[in-house]
Amino acid sequence: MPKLTGNCLCGAVRFEADGDIAMQGNCHCTDCQQVSGSPFATLVFMESDNVEVTGELKSFSHTVDSGNQLTKEFCTHCGSQMFAKGRPGMIGLRAGSINEKEHIQPQFNVYAGSKLPCTLMDDDIPAFDKMPG
Ligand SMILES: [Zn+2]
Ligand SMILES: [Zn+2]
Repeated sequence: MPKLTGNCLCGAVRFEADGDIAMQGNCHCTDCQQVSGSPFATLVFMESDNVEVTGELKSFSHTVDSGNQLTKEFCTHCGSQMFAKGRPGMIGLRAGSINEKEHIQPQFNVYAGSKLPCTLMDDDIPAFDKMPG
């Protein structure tokens, strides 16, 4: 049985993920705010080899302040944001599309410097103003 399963709003894009979660955290950067339409994005990173995706995706790539190229992949039919890719060999799943909610346990907050004033922060996990170097 896969560890994590999920799908987009319309169900055209599905994924099954196995193996360990490499890391997971909340990102409060303005890019994540704009692409998600939410105060922050909770991303769950796994090795790409451990994630099987079906369905048609469209992608948008952009350059971030570190100079790195990031790619967001979304469902061509309903537009749900599905995957974030930056680091080679890794894929970021979006917490909201994952069925197994008990596995969503963010370990950190990044780009806390641009969080919305109304966003409540969990003081039990570290918060970084930007991306820790
Ligand atoms: Zn869809
Ligand atoms: Zn971000």
